[in-house]
Amino acid sequence: MLEVRNLAINFKVGSGLLTRKRLLKAVQQMDFTVAAGETFAVVGESGSGKSTLARAVVRLVQPANGSVHLDGEDLTALSGARLRRVRPNLQMVFQDPYASLDPSKLIRDIVAEPLAVHGRAQGAELETEVLRLLRLVGLDAHHMARYPHEFSGGQRQRVAIARAIALRPKLLVLDEAVSALDVSTQNQILNLLEDLQREFGMAYLFISHDLGVVRHIADRVAVTYLGRIVEQGPTKRIFEAPAHPYTRALLAAVPVPDPKRQRANREPPLSGEIPSPLDPPSGCAFHGRCPFAQPVCREQIPVHEQLANGGSVACHVRPK
Ligand code: SF4
Repeated sequence: MLEVRNLAINFKVGSGLLTRKRLLKAVQQMDFTVAAGETFAVVGESGSGKSTLARAVVRLVQPANGSVHLDGEDLTALSGARLRRVRPNLQMVFQDPYASLDPSKLIRDIVAEPLAVHGRAQGAELETEVLRLLRLVGLDAHHMARYPHEFSGGQRQRVAIARAIALRPKLLVLDEAVSALDVSTQNQILNLLEDLQREFGMAYLFISHDLGVVRHIADRVAVTYLGRIVEQGPTKRIFEAPAHPYTRALLAAVPVPDPKRQRANREPPLSGEIPSPLDPPSGCAFHGRCPFAQPVCREQIPVHEQLANGGSVACHVRPK
């Protein structure tokens, strides 16, 4: 349903009369697909380009190169009325529900807005639909006449989800949507998202830095490093047999109660910081932090190779 091909997103940064603008390559050569009803997670450290990718998919930023097809239609080529026509199919939930909900508006009006703007309902029918949406996300009639500041973080995220599903999107992009919540509220929201997906068949593009959360919700996972996907595959394979040294290092940092998965914990811990995308390393961008790096890693960018047990990895060495 969603097909992202060779996607590249650049920003010009720096200002002033005497300083030259520099090119920040936030996303490079990203390729992946998401099937209807599937949850595809994009995971990586802060600065890996995953939130920029999310914004490009919903057309909040324009890519420099590549394409984003939804049901065969190239979103990057759309503008004006044609883009507005497909917008209902693509909705996004942000990390901070307080910042994404207008504090001056009642919950009723926040949830009603997309329905009213797209002419889906009005009057009593609109009121009924708003109540139906609030009930779907675990809220009720007495929440309608309140303001966002009267709600907890979890409740605000429920409101943001009600608004995002109002137009029955085919794809919901969730950008660190549970990261600001405590663990118990995270679990409640993840369960809610699973229930809604079962009921409406939406696909999720789930952006997160938290592997524990990703393991819970994703069907497939892409691991990103400095703007590139370095490994992708089915969630079970990624967690049980990670192929890329970066994936292995990320997993080694996650507490593992299951003794069968202790192997991952023998990996050397991830050292150093993610390099600046303004001055990316040559070759494999991970070479400065990789315990398996060889001379070729500094010179050539590795290309993706298919793995027999599912998915693909971009690494010259692929240590056992
Ligand atoms: Fe490490 Fe080389 Fe593989 Fe990059 S290509 S992850 S530096 S072994």
